[in-house]
Amino acid sequence: MGLKEKILTKSLYVFHLSSGSCNNCDIEILDCLTPRYDLERFGIVLVGSVKHADALLCTGSTNRLCVPRIKKLYEMMPKPGFVIAWGACGSSRGVFKDSYNTGSPLDEIIPVDLYIPGCPPKPEAVIAGVKKLLDKVNAVKKK
Ligand code: SF4
Repeated sequence: MGLKEKILTKSLYVFHLSSGSCNNCDIEILDCLTPRYDLERFGIVLVGSVKHADALLCTGSTNRLCVPRIKKLYEMMPKPGFVIAWGACGSSRGVFKDSYNTGSPLDEIIPVDLYIPGCPPKPEAVIAGVKKLLDKVNAVKKK
């Protein structure tokens, strides 16, 4: 087990990528960081560079212009890295599914480790999702 895997369960650094959302999901991420829900108590911190991230948090319907950038950011993330599809749009393109500028679903562009449902997801769903992700990280750690 490497040092990185050991550290992941204590402090997961997350880079937020918005690829054509209505911005409601992006606002909800900020809600999750307020003292009321306090995602940071799980060691989850938003970072400004994907090069510092352990997870890529994707909101939005993956519009066509964003697809090459999503791939590039995924490549730049240190491995092992995890991908979180946030909300209906992140998971399946949601209400923008048939839009003229919407590309493939996120999981056809890069591998997705966790889907958090909702439009936008409620903080409770986010916390449940984070717990699942930490379990997944623990499973990687034990290998
Ligand atoms: S899932 Fe709903 S709230 Fe989130 S970006 Fe899509 S339409 Fe907006």
